[in-house]
Amino acid sequence: MNPKIQAAINAQINVELSAAYSYLAMAAYLEAEGYNGAASWMKQQSKEEIEHAMKFYTFVNERNGRVILEEIVAPKIEFSSILDVFEQSLAQEKNVTKLIYNLYDLSLQEKDYAFESFLKWFLDEQVEEENSVSTVIEKIKLIGGAGSSLYLLDQELGERKEES
Ligand code: MG
Repeated sequence: MNPKIQAAINAQINVELSAAYSYLAMAAYLEAEGYNGAASWMKQQSKEEIEHAMKFYTFVNERNGRVILEEIVAPKIEFSSILDVFEQSLAQEKNVTKLIYNLYDLSLQEKDYAFESFLKWFLDEQVEEENSVSTVIEKIKLIGGAGSSLYLLDQELGERKEES
C-alpha cells in the first residue's frame, strides 16, 4: 500500500476514534444535566464515529496495509449548556470535513482512484453530519431556553434511530 496514504488513513482512524470519544464525553455531560434524549443522540453519534474508523480500518487491511493505532487524547468534558455542546459538535464535524477533503486531495495527487472512490461515501456523510447537527442548533436557538420546549426537544432527540 502507498505509504503516504497508509499514514494519512491511520491518522484519520485516530481522528474518527477521537471524535467517538469526544461525543461520548458530550453524552456524559448531557446525561449529568438531565438531557437523557440528547445524551442518547450523542451516544448514537459516538457509535457512528467508531463505524467510520472501522471503514478506514477495513480499507487499509483489504489493501494489505498496516493499521497503526495511536494515543487518543482526553476529550473536553465540561460544557456551559446544551447549545454549547451542539456548537462544539458542529465545529468538530467541520474540522473532520476539512480532513476528509485533504484525504481526497491526496488520493488525486497520488492517483489512487480506489481510495478516491472509497472517500466519496465520506464526502456525502459529512454533508449529512453537518446538516443534522446544524438542525439541532437551530431548534435549540429557536426555543431560546424555554424549559418545556427544551424538554420536548430532548424527547425528540432521544427518538433518533440507528442508521444503516
Ligand atoms: Mg466521522
